[in-house]
Amino acid sequence: MVTGGAGFLGSHLCERLLWLGTNVLCVDNFVTGLPQNVAHLRHRRGFRLIEHDVTKPLGIRGPVDLVLHLASAASPLDYLRLPVETLRAGSQGTMRALDLAAAKGARLVLASTSEVYGDPLVHPQPESYWGNVNPIGPRSVYDEAKRFAEATVAAYHRAGRCDTAIARIFNTYGPRMRPDDGRMVPTFIQQALATEPITVTGRGEQTRSICYVEDTVRGLLTLADSTLAGPVNLGNPQELTVREIAEEIRELAGSDSPIRAVDAPTDDPQRRCPDITVARSRLGWRPYVSAPEGLRRTIDWCTVRAERTAPVRGGVREPHSPAS
Ligand code: NAD
Repeated sequence: MVTGGAGFLGSHLCERLLWLGTNVLCVDNFVTGLPQNVAHLRHRRGFRLIEHDVTKPLGIRGPVDLVLHLASAASPLDYLRLPVETLRAGSQGTMRALDLAAAKGARLVLASTSEVYGDPLVHPQPESYWGNVNPIGPRSVYDEAKRFAEATVAAYHRAGRCDTAIARIFNTYGPRMRPDDGRMVPTFIQQALATEPITVTGRGEQTRSICYVEDTVRGLLTLADSTLAGPVNLGNPQELTVREIAEEIRELAGSDSPIRAVDAPTDDPQRRCPDITVARSRLGWRPYVSAPEGLRRTIDWCTVRAERTAPVRGGVREPHSPAS
């Protein structure tokens, strides 16, 4: 069972699980995900899609041996638009997913986030770091929901109610991210393809580590297959400044976009880089896809999507405009 399975990461997980020969139950209320993300899977044997809000009770007939719990808004634009829904998905939604896993005797893997570290004072961030989170700032609806989710998963685990694992996912990107979801990579790509200014917040000196979706999915499934409870950081430890990422995307897209500085959002983290010693030593996992390679694949996918969705007038497709 993949909650949030019609989202960016969830749809890749569903795809990979089906490829591995697993039956997949995808549960999603499409609040930020899209039915078309899994449309190509709908007629595959072993795939079932249920439209459902995970904060509500869900009765599933038959066995479930693994719950990959991803249901939650994840992009800052989405969770700022859906603050209470995000808190509910992280709290009530996680409890419901845990109760279901406990009733079925399933292992549950929580898709947590590097945001639990907040604006970190320790660098790079190991799992032992407790974080530096503003509990009442605008981003807290996401950060604290995930911290609550982690606390709940840990409590069920300690009480022996179910077998669990926590993955702390760092910035992951790839095909199927919505161009308007406000996250750095799809925003920069969209701007570069439209030859619009690439909007870098602040001076662009803040760092991010970006991990290609294929690597993150492999990490989540390796964790699911293990007995490790975590938390385990999953991310790419190559640290890049936001300006470097903007420049790389501009070059790969062959774009002439200027880079424009805009105001940084409240509580924007200054440094983000995972310490992946635990994932390396306990799971034998590390990312393989380099930033230029992953960004090139993502740009190619975005280019094709832009061509497909460009408006058709008089039987001729017009060049894509992101404003349309
Ligand atoms: P996404 O928004 O594309 O996917 C989230 C999915 O969850 C969507 O399909 C959405 O409709 C669904 N959802 C939200 N609330 C729901 C609810 N109450 N009931 C049922 N479905 C619900 O985001 P994503 O990037 O694919 O993120 C997936 C998960 O991974 C999230 O939990 C996120 O916190 C975590 N994560 C992602 C990243 C990243 O960089 N992509 C980083 C850290 C953590």
